[in-house]
Amino acid sequence: MIAPFAERYRRALADPRLKRNLLAFQRAWRLTRDAAFDRLQAEGPGLGASTSSFADAKARLVAAKDSVLADPDAARARFVAAFAARGGTVHDAWTADDAREIVLRLLRERDVKLFAKGKSMVGEEVFLNHHLEAAGIRVVETDLGEWIVQLAHETPSHMVMPAIHKSRQQVATLLEAETRTDVDPDDIGAMVRLARAELRRVFLTADAGMIGANALIADTGTVMLVTNEGNGDLVSTLPKTLIVIAGWEKLVPTFADAASQLRLLARSATAQEITTYTSFITGADDGREIHLVLVDNGRSALHADPAFRDVLRCIRCAACADVCPSYQVVGGHVFGYIYSGPIGLVNTAAHHGLDAVAGPQSLCVSCNACATICPVDIPLPQQILRVRAKVVEAHGLPLAKRLAFAVWSRPRVFDVVMRAASVLQRPVRRGAFLRVPLPPAQRWRSVPALAATPARDTLLGRTFEPVETGPWANSQARGRTVAYFLQCITDRFAPEQAMAAIELLRACGARVVVPAGQHCCGLPPLDAGDRATARRMAKHTIRALEAVAADHYVSAGASCAIAIAHDYAELLADEPDWRVRAERIGSRTLDLLSFLERVADPPALPLRPDAPTVTMHSFCQTTNVMGSGDAGPGLLQRAGIPVRDLAERGVCCGFGGSTSIDHPELAREIAQRKLDNVRATGAAVLATDNPGCLLHLRGAADVAHDRFVVRHVAEVLLDGVRQ
Ligand code: SF4
Ligand code: SF4
Repeated sequence: MIAPFAERYRRALADPRLKRNLLAFQRAWRLTRDAAFDRLQAEGPGLGASTSSFADAKARLVAAKDSVLADPDAARARFVAAFAARGGTVHDAWTADDAREIVLRLLRERDVKLFAKGKSMVGEEVFLNHHLEAAGIRVVETDLGEWIVQLAHETPSHMVMPAIHKSRQQVATLLEAETRTDVDPDDIGAMVRLARAELRRVFLTADAGMIGANALIADTGTVMLVTNEGNGDLVSTLPKTLIVIAGWEKLVPTFADAASQLRLLARSATAQEITTYTSFITGADDGREIHLVLVDNGRSALHADPAFRDVLRCIRCAACADVCPSYQVVGGHVFGYIYSGPIGLVNTAAHHGLDAVAGPQSLCVSCNACATICPVDIPLPQQILRVRAKVVEAHGLPLAKRLAFAVWSRPRVFDVVMRAASVLQRPVRRGAFLRVPLPPAQRWRSVPALAATPARDTLLGRTFEPVETGPWANSQARGRTVAYFLQCITDRFAPEQAMAAIELLRACGARVVVPAGQHCCGLPPLDAGDRATARRMAKHTIRALEAVAADHYVSAGASCAIAIAHDYAELLADEPDWRVRAERIGSRTLDLLSFLERVADPPALPLRPDAPTVTMHSFCQTTNVMGSGDAGPGLLQRAGIPVRDLAERGVCCGFGGSTSIDHPELAREIAQRKLDNVRATGAAVLATDNPGCLLHLRGAADVAHDRFVVRHVAEVLLDGVRQ
């Protein structure tokens, strides 16, 4: 029985050890994973590797996986023929129920009493253990992590390290109860030896064994299996009957393709060059039998939908979870099912129904980190937004969001409401914040005040000529016309940021026009899964931007520039005219920092050692989508500003669209991670390139009485250039 999402979420937040351990793990994993790929790059060519960079290896594996997805029936037929020719039997399981029944039938026919299982995510996906145990078969997990989880009557919380949520004390207690011997929680070696002795008995006496598959090689009918404990080899060689359970998406055409998967899998999953055991099982020896239960369970539906087909490339490395800031805070059990983290937010809907993912999908802050790390290039963030949109289609938006978007999507109504709010807030406004009582979950941040006068009142419809003199006046932006997009947060809360950005563009020699008809880009409803409203707002923005002649469209609201550049064409894909217009605008749209770095390319100014020290939080999407994560610090240095390096500079700050409103506890934890890193720099100023992050971090820093000030990087750069 799976607890409701709200309860899982509450439980996870109440476990401080979980987030502490996962943070330590994520940091260590990131360093070692990157080092493993760096070594591949450095040593691969000398060793004759056909692909030595992460990008090349990824492209190679994507091509192999896509060749199967282009015609899965053909790959499957080839595998089945080769597998059968070597004495194996394939059983097709269309549903989870089919898979369970097939395995149970095979075991009953052989009078199996003890069933030794290697690690299998598909086994978890179809809830195999419960079914077999209910039928009187003793099932023992032989992967150490899986066994610990089984002893605890829990489910895995991580796809590669199933018991990552357990402390060694908890493991010791479980082992003591199971083996009835004293276990020293500080002696991990002794615990491993004890587990080995227990599990050896199972390997030697089991009537049948089960393994999963990391790849099914169509050419030869071979099952590829990677483990670090060797249990898979014992399970697959000692019992007389071996059952392999796998989804058909594990098919790859050739051994060479399986090798290209190995190159990425171990490095991505455990930062190893190769796992300790890599086995290739082709057919059964005399007197033994091998069966493959080939599971669909929603995979064909994923394949039939072009928006989701790519997800079938997944090799279950869990790298996406290992970079996910939300996963770091809440761990894997919150996701409810075996596929946890970003991949789970997509494929769980296919395997267990849309409702299974309705709660967890709201944890995604759209930072795009998972997309950068995935070794098979799955566009997870876009797919998660698609799943969110399906949830909204099925269940509708919550009333508060419906009302908010009804106002937000109507420029005139929105304007009236914002101006009224700006007046009504006066009694509780104190400087940049509103001093109002907040519910406990929100008290870690101060509420930003609306500006008395929005940016639009002074900027809309105006043209700003370039500055003729100054240290950056002859940058490569000279002679260019930039159409400036205000962005709602800047417009209503922080008009000084828009003014600074425009002045900075002028200081770089650009002519700036501010299109008159602009409103919100539609990102808030898009983030919330309300694609219909987002489409209307996107069209409005395209019309407004098209109304001015410009070489570039730029915004210091990085999230909105990125939405226009990267999301509009997909959002409007089914209306060819609009898609073309979206692509035309999108191809010329850049966030401010990307524009300054790629187009303006201003000269370096002498360092001003007496200027306040600055550290830079690079908006996660600037880092992960635009690839401009280094632009901020680089430009600050070029402006002569002393910069302190910020650890995890491009990791999300927890603002994440509506996630910080829907899940303030999650947002607080992610923000604290960011602020701890900022404090460690000792910088006087925290600069960032996204107004949402800025207000979020400024509010959190205000409550924490931090001494640094939080500013938009445009303001800091402008100060530097004007000195
Ligand atoms: S986009 Fe970021 S928050 Fe969302 S699932 Fe991916 S890594 Fe996690
Ligand atoms: S989606 Fe990509 S990163 Fe995540 S588990 Fe699958 S292959 Fe690994």
